[in-house]
Amino acid sequence: MSRSAHPAGPRHADVLPEGHYSAPAADLNVLDEKVWSRTVTRDADGALTVGGIAVARLAEEFGTPAYFLDESDFRARCRAWADAFGPDADVFYAGKAFLSRAVVRWLKEEGLNLDVCSGGELTTALDAGMPAERIAFHGNNKTVAEIERAVEAGVGRIVLDSFQEIVRVAHIAQRHGVRQRVQIRVTVGVEAHTHEFIATAHEDQKFGIALADGQAAEAVRRALALDGLELIGVHSHIGSQIFDMAGFEVSARRVVQLLAEIRDEHGVELPEIDLGGGLGIAYTSDDDPREPHEIAKALSDIVGRECEAAKLRTPRISVEPGRAIVGPTAFTLYEVGTIKPLEGLRTYVSVDGGMSDNIRTALYDAEYSVALVSRTSDAEPMLVRVVGKHCESGDIVVKDAFLPADLAPGDLIAVPATGAYCRSMASNYNHALRPPVVAVRDGEARVIVRRETEEDLLRLDVG
Ligand SMILES: *Cc1c(COP(=O)(O)O)cnc(C)c1O
Repeated sequence: MSRSAHPAGPRHADVLPEGHYSAPAADLNVLDEKVWSRTVTRDADGALTVGGIAVARLAEEFGTPAYFLDESDFRARCRAWADAFGPDADVFYAGKAFLSRAVVRWLKEEGLNLDVCSGGELTTALDAGMPAERIAFHGNNKTVAEIERAVEAGVGRIVLDSFQEIVRVAHIAQRHGVRQRVQIRVTVGVEAHTHEFIATAHEDQKFGIALADGQAAEAVRRALALDGLELIGVHSHIGSQIFDMAGFEVSARRVVQLLAEIRDEHGVELPEIDLGGGLGIAYTSDDDPREPHEIAKALSDIVGRECEAAKLRTPRISVEPGRAIVGPTAFTLYEVGTIKPLEGLRTYVSVDGGMSDNIRTALYDAEYSVALVSRTSDAEPMLVRVVGKHCESGDIVVKDAFLPADLAPGDLIAVPATGAYCRSMASNYNHALRPPVVAVRDGEARVIVRRETEEDLLRLDVG
């Protein structure tokens, strides 16, 4: 990453404070297409438009803060993933990134499968008509009631995450007189994040069954012995926001080695492997994500090579992108409320949302971009920190970025790439009303998740 602690330009500082930020773009009015959804552009007046609709109109009709989701971009990304992996592999969208009934219908129409990891996500998926056989059920502590519902619904696979769950799912399946298709989630000792991966000691986590010490082999032994289970494969998910394929390479090699051991011990070749999700997207201009076809080729090359070496039939591969599909398709629109310049430091720009609609900056130190979108400006860039309206000094939306120095209360600013893990992690902190998600497509905007109201808050408050 090309980071500079002392870029030139901003008005409020002769010497910029230490920070993790790039120099300002040459022209702040230019929208970097890497971080914005596909139909985003500026109109003749300089206002940002998405799906052909200007943000001022969107703000007027739907209010701020709000998430605007570029439906045609979402659908195009689904198709790109499905096409890249082809008919001999399966793409499961990870619903936890963002799930609603509209999203489920788009996934269904575009030929994707769906991962869920709670009863609530399962209900949403089934209610919107996703065929149960296209649903995979994940989670390290699924309740008995959740497993019952998944088995009754006939989900295509349950990903077993612990020794207890192997027995639990087998019993429930038997009680229902079915053989439940399952995978076993293994922790391969690799953890990957963004630009680096670490290939030691990452069994130290709550998910999955460790390959080390023969734990995974023992889990396979137990699963194969239970009538209620049809073991179809092994699952591995190594991290999030990954750009480097090296972690997947190690993971795929270890998973294939396990398949070879299973064949040697039990005489069965499991037909599937799932390599999880975690593929990175561009949050800032410094991020360079890979295209689905590059990822598909890299993964199938690795698996093919390892299987050939182990003399195994190549298993069917599945992947589970969440962020890589929905992340880039939405932005959050905010109105600027107050502006507080701190001479020699930075300018705090407060917006009408915050950590209740985007917890990722506070939670993971995530980086985001921001742009003035209700107009263009020729003013100098100024170093800003975009903060929310909550009672926490850690309530930061964008830690370090540049906005034009003539920014004023009432301006609309937008944070791109907020489609994943923003609305789905949104909270009611300070009794904030969670923002709506508005799908925009071909000049039409429609609410797919409505804004919460104060009545919604009071309805839960039954005391
Ligand atoms: C979170 C998760 C995913 C999706 O991760 P992304 O970073 O959104 O691609 C996929 N599979 C599993 C098991 C997960 O827990």
